[in-house]
Amino acid sequence: MKIFHVSVAILLILPLFTCMNSTTTQSKLQMSDSQAEQEGYAAYQEATKDLELITDPQINDYVYCVTGALVDAIPNAFRSTDKLYLPQQWEVNTFNEDSANAFALPGGYIAVYTGIFNIATTPDMLAAVIGHEMGHVLLRHGNEKLGTIKVFGRKQEREADRAGVALMAAAGYDPNQSVEFWKSMIEDYGKSGPSIFSTHPSDVQRIADIKLVIKYLPSSVYEGAVRPNCVTPSTSF
Ligand SMILES: [Zn+2]
Repeated sequence: MKIFHVSVAILLILPLFTCMNSTTTQSKLQMSDSQAEQEGYAAYQEATKDLELITDPQINDYVYCVTGALVDAIPNAFRSTDKLYLPQQWEVNTFNEDSANAFALPGGYIAVYTGIFNIATTPDMLAAVIGHEMGHVLLRHGNEKLGTIKVFGRKQEREADRAGVALMAAAGYDPNQSVEFWKSMIEDYGKSGPSIFSTHPSDVQRIADIKLVIKYLPSSVYEGAVRPNCVTPSTSF
């Protein structure tokens, strides 16, 4: 299994993005970070043990490139990173699965199913998906629950959307493409079987919320960001 390692430089840059207050206080129901990392690792192994790992370097390079750009953008995406959970390393693997799905677990373990490429047809849309999933990790959403793919509450979904939009913008991607991604998910719903949709319910309200986040995104988040040159694989899915 390929390990993807991007060290996260914690810089004391303080962009004006505000959104994290509600989850910065750990409740008593939350696991410690180290416990959550262990649980996340075990859950990731369990969830992916029967899946076919993609070895196509074009696909892997593409997913690594987008993920790496988002990881590097963490310090610029958030006003402060000191309340976030920052994994020592992020691991992202792509699996040959038709369903349009992706998930992330505490510890920074991310799984991408090839079916998502049918919906997320551009690097920006893929950044929207992975950025959202990274948001759940950074905000410790999974630390409150055990298991693999859980349905998060609306509040957590909204927070992950905000984090994902900030991450993709700070990485140099067009945040408006997150709106396009969720629109495409709604259109695709029911066609491709179980999808990210089943754990990330989407509706017009979600899209309206994301548009508002984009509208009020401080320019300090994305100023100077250079769009990464991640090559979209020629493979068709
Ligand atoms: Zn989510």
